[in-house]
Amino acid sequence: MEDSEDLISGIQILEHVQLLQRRKDDKSIRILQLTDMHLFPPHQTTWKLGANKQHRVVDFVKDGYDPGNKKAILLVQTLLQNVQPDLVIFTGDIVDGRPHTKDDSWQTTFKDIIQPLLETTPITPWTFCPGNHDDDDAPWTRNDLLEIFQLPGCISPKCQSFNHTYTLGIHSKEDSISQNDPTTSTRLWIFDSGGNHPTTRYDPFPKNIVNGYKQLTQAIIDLPDDLKEKFKVAADLAFFHIPLPEYSGIDPIVGENNLFNAILSSNSVPSPWKFCPWLVRCLGKDKIAGSSTINSGMFEALRKGKLLATFVGHDHYSDYVGSRGTAPYMTYGRVTSYAPPSNFEGNGGKLPWKPGGRVVRIEKNTAVATWIETIDGPEKKSRIMLDGSHHEMVWVKSRRRQTFIVVLIMVLMILSLYWLK
Ligand SMILES: [Zn+2]
Repeated sequence: MEDSEDLISGIQILEHVQLLQRRKDDKSIRILQLTDMHLFPPHQTTWKLGANKQHRVVDFVKDGYDPGNKKAILLVQTLLQNVQPDLVIFTGDIVDGRPHTKDDSWQTTFKDIIQPLLETTPITPWTFCPGNHDDDDAPWTRNDLLEIFQLPGCISPKCQSFNHTYTLGIHSKEDSISQNDPTTSTRLWIFDSGGNHPTTRYDPFPKNIVNGYKQLTQAIIDLPDDLKEKFKVAADLAFFHIPLPEYSGIDPIVGENNLFNAILSSNSVPSPWKFCPWLVRCLGKDKIAGSSTINSGMFEALRKGKLLATFVGHDHYSDYVGSRGTAPYMTYGRVTSYAPPSNFEGNGGKLPWKPGGRVVRIEKNTAVATWIETIDGPEKKSRIMLDGSHHEMVWVKSRRRQTFIVVLIMVLMILSLYWLK
């Protein structure tokens, strides 16, 4: 699988990437996820919103945003200094297409944000998956953005599809660059989760990609044991922009889900629920995610493929790690933006924390760790080991809750029968 560059149902299989160790005495692989930067043309200081927002004008200076994307660039520089990642993954909504007018201005804007990565020694490789706004109302197409993989520092310049997979390994200068070490080797799946959709809110996760993923992972599962060893990895991770529908309705293990509060604050909760948010919270229906209303079965495919965790962005007000009682862990990044869409143009209320990024560390003989980094350093409370131990706890908790609801309904029925007598 490592040697071919075929497209299996739309998923491109790329060669193994061997990274050179950059931190002294540390052979772990560190990935930094940056998301939802919403970079505007650097010269722009105002943004006229669409008809659905009464063409309101947002003033970057007066409203405290980020003219020239300068704060975002400084944040990236600081995160690079503190984390020293081996790879940066931009998980969508990096360049916001809406305010741009020139068909190549995504390139000049994106180049500004990768410049700090090119200034580290050695340079920090990066990759990208598109969000729903990278080509939204833009003078370029989504396909034009495939040229992003040709920009300096990209780890996968042979990419011809936003949907692709490869393994990453690490070696020091002294090591002979030999086999991919299965104790730290990491498989990455990068997916295009689609754009906005007029009836299902967002595109459903593409069906051919779900099938391609099923085909590829089943092929590995079906291999004889000796060959299976060749494909063994320490971590199997997927990065894309829009959360799967399964992100809804779960309790964060660490981090927060503040999306309902933000939507409430922006007056976008439909009636009658906006008049009784306490009831929504009581029923646990406030644990929402901005997913497509169509479920393509990707979560089930990832579960069967034994994926460790998914990493998404998109919701800006959520940064949690959650579980449905089974792998994979469902994880958000931390919004990396000071631009107007970061707080729904001021309508979503203050972000509950500082912008930042999510770090994923894959270390020999240790479970994969992840945490949030901001300009102030790592957030201690956000740290979690993705060792699988949480799934059973979550499963037991949800069974208890179901039993409690069934017992409560039975008690209420018995009482009502008694009163009716
Ligand atoms: Zn976004």
